[in-house]
Amino acid sequence: MSSKADYIIIGQGISGTFLSYYLHKAGKNILVFDEPKNNTASKVTSGVINPVTGRRIVRTWMIEEIMPFAAHAYQALENELNISLIHQCNILDFHPTAQMQNAFDERVNEETYLSNVKDTESWRNYFNYDFGIGEINPCWQINIQALIQEWRKELQKNNQLIEEKFSVEQIKDYADSKIIFCDGVANIDNTFFHLLPYAANKGEALIVEIKDLPRTNMYKQSCAIVPWKDDLWWIGSNYEWNFENDLPSKEFRESMEQKLKSFLKLPYKIITHIAALRPANVERRPFVGLHPTHKNIGILNGMGTKGCSLAPYFAHQLAENLMNNKPILAYADIQRFKGILSKQ
Ligand SMILES: Cc1cc2nc3c(=O)[nH]c(=O)nc-3n(C[C@H](O)[C@H](O)[C@H](O)COP(=O)(O)OP(=O)(O)OC[C@H]3O[C@@H](n4cnc5c(N)ncnc54)[C@H](O)[C@@H]3O)c2cc1C
Repeated sequence: MSSKADYIIIGQGISGTFLSYYLHKAGKNILVFDEPKNNTASKVTSGVINPVTGRRIVRTWMIEEIMPFAAHAYQALENELNISLIHQCNILDFHPTAQMQNAFDERVNEETYLSNVKDTESWRNYFNYDFGIGEINPCWQINIQALIQEWRKELQKNNQLIEEKFSVEQIKDYADSKIIFCDGVANIDNTFFHLLPYAANKGEALIVEIKDLPRTNMYKQSCAIVPWKDDLWWIGSNYEWNFENDLPSKEFRESMEQKLKSFLKLPYKIITHIAALRPANVERRPFVGLHPTHKNIGILNGMGTKGCSLAPYFAHQLAENLMNNKPILAYADIQRFKGILSKQ
C-alpha cells in the first residue's frame, strides 16, 4: 500500500466507487479506505433512476442531463467489469385514489415521461386496484450491489483498498495526498464537515420471494415492488426522520406487509429485512469539492434519495475539478457553505 497516493478516498459506496473509478481511469494513484459494513445506503438501495418525483409528479432536478450521463456511466462500467449492471425497467403506477389518478392525468399531457396504460385489465391477476395505471418511461434499474462488489475486487487486485475505518488522526500520514470523504452518513460527525445541513433519514425494505410476477416492470401503489436478484423482489420504502438506530424495525415490517397484502394478489415469502440511513440534507443538493480552508480535504456526499443518478455525474465533476481545475456546478459546490465551514 502506498502512502504516496495522489488521492485517498474514504468510503466505497456509490460515491466512492465512481470517484475512484474516474481518478483511476485518468491514471491517478488512488487509495480507498472502506470500513466493511452491511447496512450502508448503497448496499440496501433498490437502484432506481426515476425521472419524476413526489406527489406532484414533477421532474427530478437536472434529470435531462443527469439521467443520460448516469446510463452511459453504468454501461461503461458494465463493459469494463464484464457484468450486467443497468436495464430499463419502467414504473407502473397503480393509482391508489381517484385524486392521485386525476393528478397523474393532469400531468400526462405536459410531461413526456408520463403516459397512461391502455390495457389495464391484464394486471388483475397480479394486483388489486380500483383506479387507472400510469407508466413512467424511461426508468432504469441499477445493480448497485454488484457494482460495488466487482469494483472492490478491482481495487483489491490493484492493491488500492484498505478495508478499515479511516480516522482523521491518519490524515497526517498522507500529507502529500488529497483526502476525499465519500463516507455517507458518517460525514455528519466528520471534524471538517459536521456543520453542513445534513438531515439523514432512515429507509427500510423487505426482500421477498414472489414467483410468477413479470419482471418486466417495477410496480408502485402505496409501496414499491422492484425486481431484486433471482425470484426476489425489493419492497419498500419509508423516509423516517426520527429514528433511534439504523436497524430494521418491527413497525416497518408490519406496515409494509399490510400494504403488500392489500396490493399484491400472489403469495409471497419474506426472506430478509434491510435498513440504512440516507445521507440526505435540507437543500436536497449534493456536497461536492474541496474544503474552503483545508485545501487537501474534499467531499462527495449529500446524495440523499438519489445517489444512483447523482453520484456518477458529480463524481465526474469532482474528478475533473481535482485534476483539471474545471468548475463544479454552483448548486452542488461545497463553496456555497464557505461561511459556515470556515468557522471551524
Ligand atoms: C432504503 C433505501 C432505498 C434507496 N433507494 C434508492 C433508489 O432507488 N435510487 C437512488 O438513486 N437512491 C436510493 N437510495 C439512496 C442511495 O442509496 C444513496 O443516495 C447512496 O447510496 C449514497 O451513497 P454514498 O456512497 O454517498 O454513501 P454510502 O452508501 O453510505 O457509502 C459510504 C461508505 O463509506 C464507508 N465509510 C464511512 N465512514 C468511513 C470511514 N471513516 N472509514 C472508512 N469507510 C467509511 C461506509 O462503510 C460506506 O461503505 C436509497 C437509500 C435507502 C436507504
